[in-house]
Amino acid sequence: MDHPERSTNTSRGLGRRPALLLLFAVVGGLSLVLTLSVPSTAFSPTPTARISAKPTSTTTAQNLGPPPPQFPPAPTKPVVYLTFDDGPDPTSTPVLLDMLASYDIAATFFILGHNTVNFPDVAVRTVTDGHAVANHTYHHRRMTPSGSVAQLQKTQDAIESTTGVLPTCYRPPYGATSDGVRAAGSQLGLTEWLWDLDTRDWDEKVANEQIVAALNQTESFSYSHGLEGPIILMHDAGPEGLRTVDALRVWLDTNHTRFDFRILEGC
Ligand SMILES: [Zn+2]
Repeated sequence: MDHPERSTNTSRGLGRRPALLLLFAVVGGLSLVLTLSVPSTAFSPTPTARISAKPTSTTTAQNLGPPPPQFPPAPTKPVVYLTFDDGPDPTSTPVLLDMLASYDIAATFFILGHNTVNFPDVAVRTVTDGHAVANHTYHHRRMTPSGSVAQLQKTQDAIESTTGVLPTCYRPPYGATSDGVRAAGSQLGLTEWLWDLDTRDWDEKVANEQIVAALNQTESFSYSHGLEGPIILMHDAGPEGLRTVDALRVWLDTNHTRFDFRILEGC
């Protein structure tokens, strides 16, 4: 005899299996539908997440996604070399140094030996303000081949003993150079620098507006000495020294951010 209860139980058990399988199938199907209906992007890192992820090595960074965007390099400013001759002057030079400091501009000062000795504080401040001091002879006399070495050496000694800096560059007065002058400069290890743009600030008949107009030619002025921009000639001594400072201030007020102001190479 069969066991009816077992049989019944069996039959009940057998009877529940299709229902359970159906339930599993429905739940499983529903999960599948839900899974498929969710946007796939939610399960993969976005490009932003890939870039911001901190790489553990260069290789990992390369594998994480595309490289960061490349920005164009900052535009390069035109280079210019401001030079001031014949100082240091007790009146003009401190005013000029104040102005250059306010614009964070460095320049090259071709100074005279006798002015350096007479106004040592101004010479020292020129150096401590970050400018270059260079040799412009002792008395501003026209250099002669036979006397050039002595003129330059006496000025080297005056500048070094006053400021602690031994110049490495020189500019002959009036730009009057020659093979003999250059040989003297070379003998003392000095580089000669003349200029490109003469502002003519030394001429009392030239008005302030004309000096500013000359400075306005800076960006387009030609040069051929191998530097990266023109050398500007100005003067910070004598009766016209303060006028130069005034004209330069007018020009710098609108142009100080447009240029890369540098000290002459090697000075
Ligand atoms: Zn001079």
